[in-house]
Amino acid sequence: MKLHSYLYPFATIRDYHESLLTNKTSCKDAVDYYLSQIRLHQGLNALVHSFDDEAKQRAIQLDEQRKAGKAPGKLHGVVFTTKDVIAYKQHPVSAASKILKGFHSIYNSTAVERLLAEDAIIIGTNNCDEFAMGSSNENSSYGAVKNLIDQDRVPGGSSGGSAVAVQANLCMVSLGSDTGGSVRQPADFCGVVGMKPSYGRISRHGLIAYGSSFDQIGVLANNVEDVALVLSVIAGADDFDSTVSSLPVPDYSSALHRTQSAKPVLGYFKQTLEHEGLDEEIRSSHFRFINQLKKDGYEVKELNFELIDYIVPAYYILTTAEASSNLSRFDGVRYGPQSTPVKEELTEFYSANRSNGFGKEVQRRIMLGTFVLSAGYYDAYYTKAQQVRRKLYDETKLVFNEVDVLLMPVSPSTAFKIGEKNSNPIEMYLADIYTVYANLVGIPAISIPLFQHSNGLPFGLQLMTKHFDELSLLRLSNDWMKTYKAV
Ligand code: GLN
Repeated sequence: MKLHSYLYPFATIRDYHESLLTNKTSCKDAVDYYLSQIRLHQGLNALVHSFDDEAKQRAIQLDEQRKAGKAPGKLHGVVFTTKDVIAYKQHPVSAASKILKGFHSIYNSTAVERLLAEDAIIIGTNNCDEFAMGSSNENSSYGAVKNLIDQDRVPGGSSGGSAVAVQANLCMVSLGSDTGGSVRQPADFCGVVGMKPSYGRISRHGLIAYGSSFDQIGVLANNVEDVALVLSVIAGADDFDSTVSSLPVPDYSSALHRTQSAKPVLGYFKQTLEHEGLDEEIRSSHFRFINQLKKDGYEVKELNFELIDYIVPAYYILTTAEASSNLSRFDGVRYGPQSTPVKEELTEFYSANRSNGFGKEVQRRIMLGTFVLSAGYYDAYYTKAQQVRRKLYDETKLVFNEVDVLLMPVSPSTAFKIGEKNSNPIEMYLADIYTVYANLVGIPAISIPLFQHSNGLPFGLQLMTKHFDELSLLRLSNDWMKTYKAV
């Protein structure tokens, strides 16, 4: 069959499926197109592996099944890439770390299992910050990822490869993970849509753990409709993860277009938009946008957020504490390469393996985490941070009694230069100020690419709703992407 590459990329999965059903294209065409894109953009370093032959074989098989009359799955022939922290049976997964070099997963994560059950094709895995720790994708043992819009700039992190894979059309949709912004911030820097659902909406089974009480798998795509469809497939109860909610999963994609009679009440935290670290143009775009919303009949409330200066410290205390525990399994015995010659003394042996296997940022966080959990400092840091988290949670409940949707920037700046912030971890951490809140309290949040900076780079608007109200979040985002894109 001739490659109808002029059809690609399709605007949405729905359009692709329509063309499949009318024989204008095939799954094989799709895989050929994306493989050619992957070859073309190899220099971006967005993928760490591509499964060329296997993806082609699967595409051919799906084409045959469709032609033979088998009912297509909801993600029939949809081409995915997945972040290198999500287990895919018999495929390499390394969290972009030397310590897992050569490791192949022996089982599927629940998310991957559900994608495959609906006929998805996984064409490759995405580069990311090592163990998902970072905001620029520079902490990867595979090297930095480049932003397609300006290759001297970072794509954001830690799911930088997943964002660039969507941005550069290396796939239709990608999966990332979001512990403190790792799906939303790269989406913001790359001009794509990135959503982190509520904590407990998607199973973490098979997701390599960073901060287990924060981690969620998220979806990156070119539009909200595709995010909704993928979420409805991968969300929901799972016997392998007891933190997943058993709340029923709505059919997000069909509910997306049902119009709501009442406009949601919107709110924003005064302190977030007035923050001194926020780029002036990002600030003015947000205020202009809020005024536009008011003109269009939305009620927008200004709210107070006195705890703003505590969120980044609380986040870094709690996540490093959890990481220090989660990463203790990588010791060169259960996982990871062993130092040679093998050390006689066990502690020395672990220490040599871990010093060789982990990069600098991961080591820094393990040490920080161990410190805040140590007997003398536990109450001063860990307990205090837990108290902040609880207070935030309680206040968030009150916020969502007043408003339906909370608006916030995603990042204080647009994509920065590769190397610009790498030598100053504190500066890098502080830039997470707008994303960590949703993870601390567990609410769903999305970044939609509405804005364009005069420096030529895109930036997004972040929307949040109360726990498990993904539907309102997706609906409004979808609506606004159509009404307000490029304000
Ligand atoms: N930048 C944050 C961090 O380094 C977020 C990472 C993430 O969400 N995985 O912890």
